[in-house]
Amino acid sequence: MTRRGGGAARHAILRMAGPRALRAGVTARDVGLMLRAMRLAREAAARGEVPVGAVLARGSTVVAEHANDRESTGDPTGHAELVALREAGKRRGAWRMSDCTLVVTLEPCAMCAGAIVNSRVGRVVYGARDPKAGACESLYAIPADTRLNHRPPMVGGVLAKACGRQLTAFFARRRQERSASSPRSSRSTTVA
Ligand SMILES: [Zn+2]
Repeated sequence: MTRRGGGAARHAILRMAGPRALRAGVTARDVGLMLRAMRLAREAAARGEVPVGAVLARGSTVVAEHANDRESTGDPTGHAELVALREAGKRRGAWRMSDCTLVVTLEPCAMCAGAIVNSRVGRVVYGARDPKAGACESLYAIPADTRLNHRPPMVGGVLAKACGRQLTAFFARRRQERSASSPRSSRSTTVA
């Protein structure tokens, strides 16, 4: 009975991940790590950072985790997954991450997809698609490019709606704040 109960819970978690992720072979552990990455993203939004979070894990052990920190650091490469990879390398004293799964709330960009290939990440799991900058399926498919020497398996669309909502809510709030702080009168003065 306990086993049946556990199985039912696992199925419920997998269903939550979304149909596309299910087809791509998402696991209950992936979903758990994605929820953790989403929490990092939420905390980043509260600091005024674009809410993207990343967790690098070996099995269920978290090796490194980070959120976007470009605003606070001024570092143009401060994307969540890239900083997590960098931290993991420092911590381990080794750059190869072939034994790790990288879980990130947004489809990695070209810069981060390059880092994924270069760090030999074992597997990539991501949430929302990024039609404007995604380099795993949207604009490019860098980690799947057969001309490169490393092609990690990828699972996209894990909790995609929830991950995407974190971003759209953040940008909507920021637009609102910006339009509130620049009233029409000053804008027309600038135009004139
Ligand atoms: Zn990136």
